[in-house]
Amino acid sequence: MKIQILTIFPEVCRGVLQASILKRAGDKGLAHLEAVDLRQWTSDAHRTVDDAPYGGGPGMVMKIDPIARALTDLRSPSSKVILMSPQGRKFSDAAARDLSTESDLIFLCGHYEGIDQRVADHLIDDEISIGDYVLTSGVLPALVITDAIVRLLPGVLGDEHSAQQDSFAHGLLDHPHYTRPADYNGWKVPDVLLSGNHAAIEAWRHERALEATRQRRPDLLERSS
Ligand code: SAM
Repeated sequence: MKIQILTIFPEVCRGVLQASILKRAGDKGLAHLEAVDLRQWTSDAHRTVDDAPYGGGPGMVMKIDPIARALTDLRSPSSKVILMSPQGRKFSDAAARDLSTESDLIFLCGHYEGIDQRVADHLIDDEISIGDYVLTSGVLPALVITDAIVRLLPGVLGDEHSAQQDSFAHGLLDHPHYTRPADYNGWKVPDVLLSGNHAAIEAWRHERALEATRQRRPDLLERSS
């Protein structure tokens, strides 16, 4: 899989893409992750990517021309161009699993007041929001989505089963996890986890996952029934 994050702040992405599991995915050749500087496609001395809004109002609007030229160069026949936008469809585990089957993704990051509407109308394939709040730019949403997708790719996580047991994978939240010591200042690990009885451990974990989902996210149970 190839993911290109098209932004005017590529340096913000590089630290995240060059650390931990995302770095390992790149090093193992499982994902090609790249931050691309949109200003490469500007043609004036100031490398301008924005201008004042038609009709007046606060803030600056990103111009269509550098974006159109960048996408012409970056797109391949298999590319899916996704605009980061608070007005897009809401990101979720299901959306991450869906996108993890794509081979070539380009995440277009907005900045300032937003992007000339003709970009959304004519140049992209999808528009995604990471939640009902507004961030200063699309860089963090693009990194959030990249991280959520890449960890689902086969071979990226140390244990293949890990992503299958996480919250949302089966419509439930995850069960609690514990590690040594078994007793910390009197706070004990549940006995069943020390029992070696795998069937009992699985049953306990399923019950705890159900309980957490019932208490915290009953909407997940309603959706799956
Ligand atoms: N004026 C826009 C609005 O109210 O819908 C907000 C623009 S925001 C300050 C600048 C950029 O940040 C957006 O173009 C988008 O790329 C990104 N962004 C902000 N919040 C986001 C969110 N919740 N999900 C995805 N992208 C977001």
